[in-house]
Amino acid sequence: MNKMRCALLHPSSFILHPFMKCEILSIGSELTTGQNLDTNSQWLSLRLAEIGIAVAWHTTVADDLQDNIDAFRIATQRAQLVLATGGLGPTLDDLTREVVAKVAGVELVFDEPSFEHIKQLFEKRNRQMPERNRVQAYFPAGAEVVPNPYGTAPGFCIAVCGSALGNSPASAKPQAVIFAMPGVPSEMYAMYHEQVKPRLLKLGFGGGVQIQRKINTFGTGESHIEEKLFDLTRRGHVPEVGITASDATISLRIFARAANIAEAQAQIAPVEATIRERLGKLVYGVDDEELQHAVLRLLGEKRKTLATAESITGGRVADRLVEVPGASVWFHGGIVAYDNRVKVEQLGVPQAILDAHGAVSAQVAEAMAVGCRERLKTDIAVSTTGIAGPGGATPTKPVGLAFVGVAWEGGVSSTSFTWAGTRMEIQSRTAKQALNAVRLKLLEMP
Ligand code: ATP
Ligand code: MG
Repeated sequence: MNKMRCALLHPSSFILHPFMKCEILSIGSELTTGQNLDTNSQWLSLRLAEIGIAVAWHTTVADDLQDNIDAFRIATQRAQLVLATGGLGPTLDDLTREVVAKVAGVELVFDEPSFEHIKQLFEKRNRQMPERNRVQAYFPAGAEVVPNPYGTAPGFCIAVCGSALGNSPASAKPQAVIFAMPGVPSEMYAMYHEQVKPRLLKLGFGGGVQIQRKINTFGTGESHIEEKLFDLTRRGHVPEVGITASDATISLRIFARAANIAEAQAQIAPVEATIRERLGKLVYGVDDEELQHAVLRLLGEKRKTLATAESITGGRVADRLVEVPGASVWFHGGIVAYDNRVKVEQLGVPQAILDAHGAVSAQVAEAMAVGCRERLKTDIAVSTTGIAGPGGATPTKPVGLAFVGVAWEGGVSSTSFTWAGTRMEIQSRTAKQALNAVRLKLLEMP
């Protein structure tokens, strides 16, 4: 075993360059088997971004000795900072202490104060400490114990040198630092906030900020957006711009890393302006805003009231609208007109139009919107009709075909779209299509 010891964890031991990268390692067979979801990685990534540390890898590994050794070796070779969670318990499948000692090339040593802490915890609970828990007081030599006030498993941090990793030329310069934390989310959260984050800052990791701005669009596909923004989304662009699609909403995420918030915002602002200029009305909001927020904001600005007449969406448009606090001022109500009889009796859709064009048609969507607006006495009404599937398609009308009607004082219009997806997805996307139609109408209104 390589006995060369690393310099102790001290800020001057590290040469940190601005693009230092971090890897998060989640340990546990309950995670790799799919029984439990690894939420620790997500949580840690969000916290690290707040202090300007970029996470380049999430790795999840089962409770297996060799797999853990491999995972830690790979992580310490490619990342300067490795945050691990899990595997610190007292049972035989808790391997993190042993694995890190092997990877760092050191022995495990007993830490008396940690042992006292563990014993006391059992005494407080009036329980006899099982002999097995003694292992939790062993740490890789040279590690700093990171106390855990909320559980038996203390964490630790240790610097691993190039030499221990078998790199050539051998050097005793720390190449990566490992933090090992408990897997239990509540214990890990507390340990991160109280113990790990202050140490990271002291060691000179991060120190800047990483912020992101999300620009949300609706009404066109991912590739079309990419075409319009190809110069911004190309690799290496600063700040980084990424495209994500979620249920027909296409979002652009602008990531900026800088010394402080003001500088990061200054990187984002011109890129956001360019995106807005090129995409125009496709952009409906930012960050967590959904179409219903945009619609209600516009209804308020233009002082217009809204009602809904829903067939295919069965109330989903109304459901989204009432999510927004204060919706009742502008959204007056809706009619779910699923059966044709309800379309005729409640919305006044002429039977002749239904007979001539079928329920799934532009004509019926428009008649539903007009009837709804009259009966519910609002400035605007929006309607939906379509085929959610899996059955119900005809040679001319495929599953996913949806019509949205919008009626206002002096006019009515409709749009159609053929959505791909499951029944739920088609319904949800049609609901978004309806909200978007209202938004576009409101943008034209004085
Ligand atoms: P510790 O290091 O605290 O001893 P452990 O790995 O020994 O943790 P487990 O019994 O494996 O403890 O896990 C404890 C609980 O924490 C389980 O409910 C487990 O699913 C949860 N947990 C472990 N890792 C994660 C993770 N990455 N994300 C979410 N939950 C996790
Ligand atoms: Mg575990």
